[in-house]
Amino acid sequence: MSTITNHMPTAELQALDAAHHMHPFSTNADLSKDGVRVITRAKGIYLSDSEGEQILDAMAGLWCVNIGYGRDELADAAARQMRELPYYNTFFKTTHVPAIALANKLAELAPDDLNHVFFAGSGSEANDTNIRLVRTYWAEKGQPDKNIIISRHNAYHGSSVGSASLGGMAGMHAQGGIPIPNVHHINQPNWWAEGGDMAPEEFGLARARELEEAILELGENRVAAFIAEPVQGAGGVIVAPETYWPEIQRICDKYEILLIADEVICGFGRTGSWFGSQTMGIRPHIMTIAKGLSSGYAPIGGSIVNDDIAKVIGDTEFNHGYTYSGHPVAAAVALENLRILEEERIVDHVRDVAAPYLKKKWEALTSHPLVGEAKIVGMMGSIALTPDKSSRAKFASEAGTIGLICRERCFANNLIMRHVGDRMIISPPLIVTPADIDEMFLRIHKSLDEAHAEITKQGLMRAAN
Ligand SMILES: *Cc1c(COP(=O)(O)O)cnc(C)c1O
Repeated sequence: MSTITNHMPTAELQALDAAHHMHPFSTNADLSKDGVRVITRAKGIYLSDSEGEQILDAMAGLWCVNIGYGRDELADAAARQMRELPYYNTFFKTTHVPAIALANKLAELAPDDLNHVFFAGSGSEANDTNIRLVRTYWAEKGQPDKNIIISRHNAYHGSSVGSASLGGMAGMHAQGGIPIPNVHHINQPNWWAEGGDMAPEEFGLARARELEEAILELGENRVAAFIAEPVQGAGGVIVAPETYWPEIQRICDKYEILLIADEVICGFGRTGSWFGSQTMGIRPHIMTIAKGLSSGYAPIGGSIVNDDIAKVIGDTEFNHGYTYSGHPVAAAVALENLRILEEERIVDHVRDVAAPYLKKKWEALTSHPLVGEAKIVGMMGSIALTPDKSSRAKFASEAGTIGLICRERCFANNLIMRHVGDRMIISPPLIVTPADIDEMFLRIHKSLDEAHAEITKQGLMRAAN
């Protein structure tokens, strides 16, 4: 045991956790049986657990700890702000310095005329804001029936009732009475799983044209907005074929549909530009931000909207807001995070050093017997596990079985790499060096080899018919 710890034994912590703590996106009864891992501290790209293990976090927490763990500057910024002004709201003819400074900084960083920020406490809240923003926008322009929002199956936009309705996760829609009315879903541009006999470029166009078909079917005067992640994150790091985004942009322009880019993961350097929209060459009217905005050090999110939307919304009273919109401590932490990203040229580091190095190694994984395609944009990558590469076959076992075996091997090798069904995904902190990436790949290769051996031994290396 390398780290000094000052807490109860792991088994006692696990028992107390099981007794009173309900975990998100988990079957809590199973967690109680197996016992959860207790994370106690973190530094750089490594987590420590209550047993003193050092775990390489190739997911940057939940896609958010972009500058890495343990930056004292953010702790100092939070402490300073808490002493000076721990809280005040911005509802009733008041404001405060951190909210002013952060909104100005974001207007400077965001492309084009995306110059106005409505703050929220999370990505989910920001997307709820967006639902009301785009509907109010069209209502104010005399088109109250232009209120349908089009999204995509297998998209992730958050977990509140509104944002989960925008999302296209079947498992989420099965619980709690969602989606809300007037949300419509089209298919995702996931060529590996759904491309059939089409070439990727042809498939990308076909999937983009589903947006046009939906608009024509629903009526141009009924569709308020289209929302999408520049690269789908939680859906399995799905990178659209190159033909996809230009066609989406053409369709949004042609039918005057507001384009909402959900930048909660892609924003703040993850794709090698400040925003995923820049990497994909799209011009959104609204961007959703959260996660990397504060590198996860404080909960904060928001919507960055363009001049036109701010003007139209600004002419009415927008009856919407959160107690913690623009929270001064979270805003101060976000500002310090943005300062570090800029001054340490971390986005340049991603584009010029880390991402090219990672891409080469990541794409070489396709020579592993378990791996079909390998996709990567900047510092977010996925591999599709398959029993037969040439036919892009799915496994005969229930979807996710093989991914879970692989994730368990990663966990055992002190590597955090997530599975989404039978895809494995990474989203490491943006500060990783080539040496860090080498260490990550030692663990990835070991885990994939062990998973392959295990799957073969269990007779699971079989294709579905
Ligand atoms: C995580 C995520 C959200 C939701 O953000 P929360 O802070 O968890 O509410 C929304 N959109 C995308 C693309 C995300 O990855």
